[in-house]
Amino acid sequence: MSRRYLKKAALTSKSDAAEVHATVKNILADIEAGGDDRAREFALEFDRYDRNIILTPDEIEAASSHVPEKLKDDIRFSHDNVRRFASTQKGTVSDKTLEIVPGVIAGQRAIPVNAAGCYVPGGRYSHIASAIMTVTTAKVAGVRHITACSPPRPDVGIAPAIVYAAHICGADKIMAMGGVQGVAAMAFGLFGLPKANILVGPGNQFVAEAKRILFGRVGIDMIAGPTDSLILADKTADPHLVATDLVSQAEHGYNSPVWLVTDHRPLAEDVLARVPALIDDLPKVNRDNAAAAWRDYAEVILCVDREDMAACSDEYAPEHLTVQANNLDWWLDRLTCYGSLFLGEETTVSYGDKATGTNHVLPTSGAARYTGGLSVHKFMKIVTWQRASREGSRPIAEATARISRLEGMEGHARAADARLAKFFPGEKFD
Ligand code: NAD
Repeated sequence: MSRRYLKKAALTSKSDAAEVHATVKNILADIEAGGDDRAREFALEFDRYDRNIILTPDEIEAASSHVPEKLKDDIRFSHDNVRRFASTQKGTVSDKTLEIVPGVIAGQRAIPVNAAGCYVPGGRYSHIASAIMTVTTAKVAGVRHITACSPPRPDVGIAPAIVYAAHICGADKIMAMGGVQGVAAMAFGLFGLPKANILVGPGNQFVAEAKRILFGRVGIDMIAGPTDSLILADKTADPHLVATDLVSQAEHGYNSPVWLVTDHRPLAEDVLARVPALIDDLPKVNRDNAAAAWRDYAEVILCVDREDMAACSDEYAPEHLTVQANNLDWWLDRLTCYGSLFLGEETTVSYGDKATGTNHVLPTSGAARYTGGLSVHKFMKIVTWQRASREGSRPIAEATARISRLEGMEGHARAADARLAKFFPGEKFD
């Protein structure tokens, strides 16, 4: 027996990649040439917005006053959890020194970037949590200047709760501009902003492509495009929770894949039967997104056994990975490719998305094969330094001169020779 698809995706996230690339490349080139004015034109074209771009303190206060007190409490709760988790991560990177040979000290320093641009998506939903995840983590890393940008609603502006969240988490500037134009404004330093050294945050395929094209000129956290999620479930899983969790992630967008991987056919069939009714029961926008994602991108895969399930999951390298199966420790030990892992039915992706404290900006489209999600480390540069006493430098200089000559790099060799001649006059070296 081998692995079988009980439901196969008709499309993949690569289906419209060439078209998106061409669109985004043109918009970026236009904005680079046309500056603030051209960025404003795109904001009008895509988001029907022509009001103030960089929010004033009065506008931030006015927006915050519209946020209900209970929601403010919840935002502060989530912010506190994200901040404490990020602070613990920061403790794992530190300055170090080592005396390599007597008199020669080598060191590393962890230095935060000076300016970060945080993208907070806002097209379909108001991603309040993305403001918390990106801005808080940059702040804990020690970034000096943090810009948060988010798409404005036509003629209204950024959702008040996003403004409140970005502000209390520590954004220095909040910009009402989304999509490629928002990313470009932060990268090129438009509207009086400092040029971002790194662009972070999730977004749709246009935002993800803009970051990908700009990578090199600026740093990026990762490709964090349309959300994807995989559930590993065995015969012990609750089919209602599995189906509910699949639908909860399909609502992200029409192109958000959800995958169920199981070794128990009755469970797969039960879940397949439950999903349509759960989608139908959602409010209209959510229903439309989830129905399209389920129809075009969802897959249900029947594996031979749990080892085959784990291998399948590692091949997909999902952004979110849920395990609803026996022996959670075995899965934690065995699985190697995911953005964030949710173990057991007592937790769910929604918790991590909103409030647990782990970051929800995570690698999509298989990027979890080579990177984890957003963390303080993404905002920090591990740089090195060295210094030496004259005596200590002697063996280094001798080895350097010999290696350089063998490589044919005479200039390098002479930089070492010049020091040997200055610090040890009259001595002979070969
Ligand atoms: P968004 O803010 O990412 O995009 C909205 C912007 O897209 C608009 O401002 C507009 O300028 C631009 N746009 C729309 N149509 C365009 C077109 N045809 N050409 C050029 N630009 C266009 O908001 P969204 O669209 O709701 O997408 C949010 C995305 O973020 C979803 O795909 C969701 O899955 C993803 N997400 C990912 C993560 C993660 O960690 N990977 C977390 C949360 C959300």
